Amino acid sequence: MGVGEVVLRPDREQSLAQTALDLMSECGVAPTPDNFEIFYAHASGEISAVSHTIGEMLARKKAFTPEILRELRAQTKAAATMEQVGEGMNSVIAGVMGRLNDAGRDAGRYSSKLSAATGELDADQSPDDLRKLVNNLLAATREMEHRTASLEKELQKSSDQVSDLRSKLEDVHRETLTDPLTGISNRKAFDNALAAAEAALTESDDPVSVILCDIDHFKKFNDNWGHQTGDQVLRLVASCLSENVKGRDTAARYGGEEFGVVLRGTALRDAMRIAEQIRHAVESRRLVKKSTGDVLGTITISIGVAQFAPQEKAEAAVRRADACLYGAKQNGRNLVISEKDPRMAPLSTNAA
Ligand code: GH3
Ligand code: MG
Ligand code: MG
Repeated sequence: MGVGEVVLRPDREQSLAQTALDLMSECGVAPTPDNFEIFYAHASGEISAVSHTIGEMLARKKAFTPEILRELRAQTKAAATMEQVGEGMNSVIAGVMGRLNDAGRDAGRYSSKLSAATGELDADQSPDDLRKLVNNLLAATREMEHRTASLEKELQKSSDQVSDLRSKLEDVHRETLTDPLTGISNRKAFDNALAAAEAALTESDDPVSVILCDIDHFKKFNDNWGHQTGDQVLRLVASCLSENVKGRDTAARYGGEEFGVVLRGTALRDAMRIAEQIRHAVESRRLVKKSTGDVLGTITISIGVAQFAPQEKAEAAVRRADACLYGAKQNGRNLVISEKDPRMAPLSTNAA
């Protein structure tokens, strides 16, 4: 391929668009604008996180579920905003540098005028000459004042632009920590909260507990009512979690139908009480399909609860909570089980 062919952007864009559409059709992805944007980003290789995920999915022949597409869409959007912020920052910096150069030049000129006037004052001046000199100085001073005021105004504008860009960055940061389906924290935020709790435990005796939840028989629910209704259930469970935790606690969706809560300053007994409230909140909701009015019955969750031992690694505490969650499933589901529960004794003996 000749160099000339590479720089012909429209051809390249067209061929990337074709690659994206072909791949979408091959993978059974609906040709919507949102999906196209994702696959175009992949074809162009502009967003490495997106290309990496899609590459892995293709290699493992995994299906592009609505969930995965939503995640990819969030990554694409975040990358586009980051690019916008980067470009905005460059233009603000260039603008400020330009204005500061101008200001330096103006100040230099003003200073030469003052020096010249000082020289002239030394000579024998007539009153007329003096008046002229003073008038010249006044004019130069006014001009300088005027330029300083306009510089201040422009710097204020740049500072407003920077605030704007900063708030865009904060939005992106928040989005990278949010699960797009339910709007609560995602796996990354959950891991961050666990790491922060682990670090806090090395400095204080404040107890930390962790709760893991899993929806009961969710596969059957999806099979009966469809994936989209299943998604509504995920939102409902997320809202039950959010309503029952507050302050420094982090409620997160850390996997498909799995949720976790990191409770700071909370010992096992209180964590059990909160877990029980969450379990009860979920089972109390009556599910009705909005579009048809079909009564979908109720949904339940199983929960495992563990408290971090002093100086313990988060991973170990999570593993115990997970064993308790497994215990809750084994003991009939719709249950909260803690590591102190007598029903966990055989498990801890096995684990030892
Ligand atoms: P158990 O009570 O033992 O947990 O049974 P289960 O059917 O809930 O567990 P299993 O692990 O067999 O199935 C989990 C199901 O969760 C399968 C999958 O369809 C569903 N799921 C995972 N992520 C999503 C999602 O994002 N949306 C929807 N609707 N379903 C999901
Ligand atoms: Mg599960
Ligand atoms: Mg489940």
